[in-house]
Amino acid sequence: MAFHRFKALETVLSRVPVDVHMPNNKVSEFFGENVFGIDAMREYLSEEAFESVMAAMQQGTQIDRKMADQVASSMKAWANSKGATHYTHWFQPLTGTTAEKHDAFFEPTEGGRAIERFGGGQLVQQEPDASSFPNGGIRNTFEARGYTAWDPTSPAFVIGKTLCIPTIFVSYTGEALDFKTPLLKALSAIDKAAVDVCQYFDKNVTKVNATLGWEQEYFLVDDALFNARPDLAMTGRALFGHIPAKGQQLDDHYFGSIPDRATSFMRDFEIESLKLGIPIKTRHNEVAPNQFECAPVFEECNLAVDHNQLLMDVMEKVARRHNFRVLLHEKPYAGVNGSGKHNNWSLGTNTGKNLLSPGKTPKTNLQFLTFFINTVKAVHDNADLLRASIAGANNDHRLGANEAPPAIMSVFLGTQLSNVLDELESKVKSGKMSPDEKTALKLGVGKIPDILLDNTDRNRTSPFAFTGNKFEFRAVGSSQNCAGPMTVLNAIMADQLIKFKKDVDALINKGIEKDEAIFQVLRQCIVDSKKIRFEGNGYGEEWVKEAAKRGLSNIKTTPLALSAFVSKSTMDLFERNGVMSEREQHARYDIYLETYTKKIQIESRVMADLALNHIIPTAIKYQSSLIENVRGLKEIMTAGDFKKSAQIQMEMIAEISEHIHTIKTKVDEMTEARRKANAIPDVKKQAIEYCEKVKFYFDVIRYHVDKLEILVDDESWPLPKYRELLFTK
Ligand code: ADP
Ligand code: MG
Repeated sequence: MAFHRFKALETVLSRVPVDVHMPNNKVSEFFGENVFGIDAMREYLSEEAFESVMAAMQQGTQIDRKMADQVASSMKAWANSKGATHYTHWFQPLTGTTAEKHDAFFEPTEGGRAIERFGGGQLVQQEPDASSFPNGGIRNTFEARGYTAWDPTSPAFVIGKTLCIPTIFVSYTGEALDFKTPLLKALSAIDKAAVDVCQYFDKNVTKVNATLGWEQEYFLVDDALFNARPDLAMTGRALFGHIPAKGQQLDDHYFGSIPDRATSFMRDFEIESLKLGIPIKTRHNEVAPNQFECAPVFEECNLAVDHNQLLMDVMEKVARRHNFRVLLHEKPYAGVNGSGKHNNWSLGTNTGKNLLSPGKTPKTNLQFLTFFINTVKAVHDNADLLRASIAGANNDHRLGANEAPPAIMSVFLGTQLSNVLDELESKVKSGKMSPDEKTALKLGVGKIPDILLDNTDRNRTSPFAFTGNKFEFRAVGSSQNCAGPMTVLNAIMADQLIKFKKDVDALINKGIEKDEAIFQVLRQCIVDSKKIRFEGNGYGEEWVKEAAKRGLSNIKTTPLALSAFVSKSTMDLFERNGVMSEREQHARYDIYLETYTKKIQIESRVMADLALNHIIPTAIKYQSSLIENVRGLKEIMTAGDFKKSAQIQMEMIAEISEHIHTIKTKVDEMTEARRKANAIPDVKKQAIEYCEKVKFYFDVIRYHVDKLEILVDDESWPLPKYRELLFTK
């Protein structure tokens, strides 16, 4: 039986904040204490093994079997010292969460003895029984084996009593079944491509890391209220609920003071995260009531992705101790702002330079302009693919909903940099640029970031914005694995940089001086990518029209957006950069479509169940009490008095009947539409059918249920209302 609303509310009101003890006042004293990081490795590993792991981390070299045995035994000794009794390969299957399968470090043997079972073999490779993870048809049941393989670039860590070893997850025939494998390949592609381009400017650059700083938004809701809402519990979002009288219109939540219970939760999960080496730094309220955000200091992209996955896990676990649930869904409450996960992205060199941060010298600024303009070009050429990378049933509610960037991809540069690009375009074109002018242009760039960093020239409505020393991909959804969009962004950038270098080299070979060649190719990039640049209001209707005029895509739904994953150009791009094979992309595409269909299917079922088993019976009961009242009035009144006294009740009775009628009819039609959709064998057609023919009913059913919510006696309404979900502390 569902937990009734009043019982839930009573429970919430009796809550007190959980007392959280800081392990120590200084974060530096416990930061990373549960991570087998550089310090722990230095302490536990032999010098030889340490060097071998460092080389694997920095240059991607192989760790041989003998060395792996050494690393495993040291890792185990370290984990035991942290109280760990089990180990697991920790990986990121395409379900979007993380997966673990715990094994004890020892195995019992005859005679009541035990042998240790964690050697190099167990560290490096495992075969989880993985046939139930989505694989898009890559693993037939007869080859239902997938294996996980150690990723030494992301350090192992201990959670509770388990040593977790970050791994990739691939099929027996070598195809990626996870998010990490293609990400690592894209990161290696961007490393190589960016280093090659850096060579024009600085011979000391031998390694380029993509960097990622994510900002995680989420909602908190009390456990008891969550349990009283089967829709929240099963789909992560409220399928029904009338907008409260007071929502976010007063804008009083953003940067407001954080309620005690929430603060206590945040302290707790921050401490846990810091111990795991997640450099969490910022916390604040978000726009909507009970919505919050946290952000770390940026890190190397692969590590940052792992840390975000880990953080979402830690948040959910810690929330339970505080009787909270974390809602990571992109749109838990219609009518209230949704949650995103801004992905701040840049490129950093082994020489300590941020390639998207203009410097003070002309040389570094031409390098900046090179990476900056190539990013714009990469986004321009691959806008649909970038859009596909953030597609999902949840994010569909958010993109273009006047709170998040639209589904139209565009790039915001800021007025000053736009001017620089315009100037570059016109001057190089007319061949008028003197060496002095070139120097002046390069120097001028150096003054710009201060303005952008100052926040004065920011545009918060753009899906992809330059913010002074990095690009911010804002359209990513709050529950998404950042690896998806990061794989795409780094792959398209790698591809673009390779093209760029080829073009510049061709000009140099014709005898054109290097700087001039770079300027000429950059100019061409500026010309070719102009239509993706937009400085105005991305939320406005005007932009939708303007974008259409420019020929930019505006793909509103997931099933259609996903097509970009299997277009010829994407296939080629991923293939030539070694990121994914055609087979892998097709498999992934099928999985995403299936996931979409399943999500809508579940929502539709939960909606029908709630409507028929909770809402309609409640409405009928209340209607019966009205009928009872009318009967009573009739008994005690004269005909004339009765007519007047019973009029409102009679109207309400009729109104309730109408809502009930519509709800029941629409639920039945929706169920029928589902039945039809379920029979469609083609995954794409099925997803489209679910999107257009099943989801289609959600709004109308919701409309009538929400009307009933404000008609029916508050006492008998079973589901916690928005005002309670959002405002009960
Ligand atoms: P905002 O104003 O968008 O809320 P901040 O300017 O505070 O945000 O930065 C947001 C995020 O950008 C932080 O997580 C930060 O670590 C990250 N960031 C800063 N520099 C870089 C970089 N070079 N690469 C990637 N992320 C970065
Ligand atoms: Mg931001």
